[in-house]
Amino acid sequence: MPNKTQKRLTVRELCQGILQGDRVILSKGITLAESKLPSDQAMAEELINTLLPKTGQSIRIGVTGIPGVGKSTFIEAFGEYLIAKGKKVAVLAVDPSSQLTRGSIMGDKTRMDELSRNPGAFVRPSPTGTHLGGIAAKSREAMLLCEAAGFDVILIETVGVGQSETLVRGMVDFFLLLMIAGAGDELQGIKKGIMEMADAIVVNKADGDNVPAAMRTVQEYKQAVHLFAPAPSGWATEVTSCSSLHSNGLDKIWGMVEAYQVKMTTNGYLDHQRAEQNLGWMDQKIGSLLKEEFQRLVKDETDKVRESVLRREVNPVSAARTLFELYLKKKGAPPSF
Ligand code: GDP
Repeated sequence: MPNKTQKRLTVRELCQGILQGDRVILSKGITLAESKLPSDQAMAEELINTLLPKTGQSIRIGVTGIPGVGKSTFIEAFGEYLIAKGKKVAVLAVDPSSQLTRGSIMGDKTRMDELSRNPGAFVRPSPTGTHLGGIAAKSREAMLLCEAAGFDVILIETVGVGQSETLVRGMVDFFLLLMIAGAGDELQGIKKGIMEMADAIVVNKADGDNVPAAMRTVQEYKQAVHLFAPAPSGWATEVTSCSSLHSNGLDKIWGMVEAYQVKMTTNGYLDHQRAEQNLGWMDQKIGSLLKEEFQRLVKDETDKVRESVLRREVNPVSAARTLFELYLKKKGAPPSF
């Protein structure tokens, strides 16, 4: 429950606090961006617009892989490693289902407990109860707010199943796929397309008895990435291993990210990719604005027509067309044909 006596901050106060790196105010800014209330959304938009010139200096890294591969252990270790190097690290998570799964598999283990307590880090769990597209859109805004607050590295975690990787790939500079040895691609639920999206494939849990298997897996993936079509960036997917548990191999991974950043800044791809991502952001926003408007104008009719489709009384395409024409009529626009 929000504390009613708590003063609501103005956009100006939020801006100032975020620019000063105040984590409490940063959290409030992100909560505002996640809110569905139209008045909050208007404020969030103003906040983002004001802060946009102060964004863009961080390196944005997406981390994916199936549940259990070690994403949170990796992010915790990598985050600590980067903080020890003097970086400020923000962690955002994109996928409510990873938390649900964890709830049932891992009991009440707190995610990234140590990193959350580190003064050089900011860890923001994913908002729950929103559909995936919505979460991704909000994560983009959260990411920009973290950049304005002065974080140098943004780590965005997603779970390696379904749509979430494509959404996260669409907002980060560097995409890192975590794998484990001996599970086979199919078992790992990783599609070739996801491997092709990765800038680095990292075989985690390369420790103890698992080292030889991890080395073999690295060789297999090295051969596999040779067969990929060349990426438009000119970057060839790197393959390496690490142990998140023992913090081994993290320097090599950071070396790859830095090499990528230098190469992609020099050849202009980083800028180009971010500009393209902005277009994707705009398209997503248009889609969600249209959807909201549509639902607002023809909600009752949609509910009725949905029932008819469920009872197989109308075909889905005609139903969509009928609702769309009704929407246009309510808007006072001419029919589409
Ligand atoms: P996530 O579901 O991908 O976030 O995976 P977690 O980070 O929760 O890790 C799943 C399990 O793998 C946990 O029991 C971790 O302790 C273990 N784990 C993660 N990284 C390593 C590693 O580098 N080596 C070993 N041996 N175990 C690891």
